[in-house]
Amino acid sequence: MAREFKIHNNLTRKKEAFEPIEAGKVKFYSCGPTTYDFLHIGNARALVVGDLFNRVLKAFGYDVTFVRNYTDVDDKIIDRAKELKRDAIEHAAIFVKECEKDMNSLGMMPASFTPKVSETMPEIIQMIQDIIKNGSGYVVDGEVLFNVPSFPEYGKLSKKDLDSLQHGIRVEVDQKKKNPADFVLWKPAKPGEPSWDSPWGKGRPGWHIECSAMAKKFLGPTLDLHHGGVDLMFPHHENEIAQSEAANKCPFCRNWAHNEFLNFGSEKMSKSLGNVIKIRDFVEKYGGQVLRHVLLSVHYRARLEWSDEVIQRALDEVKRIHEFAIESKGYVATSSGPCDPEIEKCIEKMMDELSNDFNSAGALGQYFSFLRYAKGNKDNLTDASLKQIHLTNKFIADALGLINQDPQAVLAQLHAFEQDTSDSGVDAAWIESLIEERKVAKTAKNWTRADEIRKELTAKNIVLKDNPDGSTSWKIQG
Ligand code: AMP
Ligand code: ZN
Repeated sequence: MAREFKIHNNLTRKKEAFEPIEAGKVKFYSCGPTTYDFLHIGNARALVVGDLFNRVLKAFGYDVTFVRNYTDVDDKIIDRAKELKRDAIEHAAIFVKECEKDMNSLGMMPASFTPKVSETMPEIIQMIQDIIKNGSGYVVDGEVLFNVPSFPEYGKLSKKDLDSLQHGIRVEVDQKKKNPADFVLWKPAKPGEPSWDSPWGKGRPGWHIECSAMAKKFLGPTLDLHHGGVDLMFPHHENEIAQSEAANKCPFCRNWAHNEFLNFGSEKMSKSLGNVIKIRDFVEKYGGQVLRHVLLSVHYRARLEWSDEVIQRALDEVKRIHEFAIESKGYVATSSGPCDPEIEKCIEKMMDELSNDFNSAGALGQYFSFLRYAKGNKDNLTDASLKQIHLTNKFIADALGLINQDPQAVLAQLHAFEQDTSDSGVDAAWIESLIEERKVAKTAKNWTRADEIRKELTAKNIVLKDNPDGSTSWKIQG
């Protein structure tokens, strides 16, 4: 851990040196999904970014305790279960299982703890009692509310000013509230809804308190890192801070990181907008490694605009990575000399990128330069270089979770997909071979042939795109 690890901390809005409370140990919490339906690929972005943080910190030698919750008590779950005439907790349990299947298909490393709200009631109730005892909570008709003005630092994460928040919300929204910005910690039971006994009568927790209680249960009162989608910064994370700091009387979390949205047609992919692609459907068609690759090929703080081009590029890159994994297994040492410096440097370069605010896109770029170099020099490899190639592939498998499935199986699925596209009138292999030929023509500066190939493909409605890393992707003109 000699290298400095930097994280963009949303509490300060600055990239800062990461310094865990206890040297070498990281207490990390990530807000997990609400389990009422199948997850979409926007949810997958949040999940894969949480997994990236966990993997990278581990690859850097930190001892990480990673908690990612399941929200299994929530209005959306209750409403859906009612529609299906099913018990709400049972309905949520079905989708916890489905969610786990999706996470496996995305090559996610298991978290240290994956608590559910329904299994954390004693801790939630205890925390609400602490908040009341410390003067930040009040009870009205079986409902417990957080008194926001009692916590003067409210707004420190989202940079919202309490005064304008108080005036921006109309009071008549909820007569029980003493102040417009107050939020619910515990709500009384309604008939037919899941409920638990509490000092305030039967009821269930508000949404925000679960994360404060679960984080404390498994990680203690102060965390090193907290993550979630950017939409959770306000009010969810702001409320988590207020609750935890009011209850525990100490800072809640030192670093806050939020992933940007995955957008579809310039809008956030979300169930309420109806523009979702389910993880399940995407994975069935292309495989989980392709989705994971798309999600990691963009920095987590940058927006990801979903497009055919993005998919096509990932297909091409996943293929190259896995072909290389197979091919490099068969590489034979040509001497026992020292490691080729170009090959030796790759892990270091990837680590430089990843220690710079988890820059997975930068690390992938380094990996592709390495891959091209190693392929180009395969007849010139020493024993030490071969070992380093395998270590580099292991590093990308551990730190990014890529190449963590059987490469033959990944390629077989891609091949089947290409076969399907060719059945629909497009011969992917033919296109790929022309792209290869064009590359050779360009290297030989035979621009006439290179242009001819592009025109030949355009005539068949195939559009080529030359990528900055030297590869060429293609798509069918819509
Ligand atoms: P939800 O189940 O809606 O609470 O969302 C679970 C997680 O997915 C949260 O961290 C959200 O911020 C995240 N999320 C939902 N939609 C998107 C999206 N389109 N892009 C990125 N993250 C998302
Ligand atoms: Zn949360």
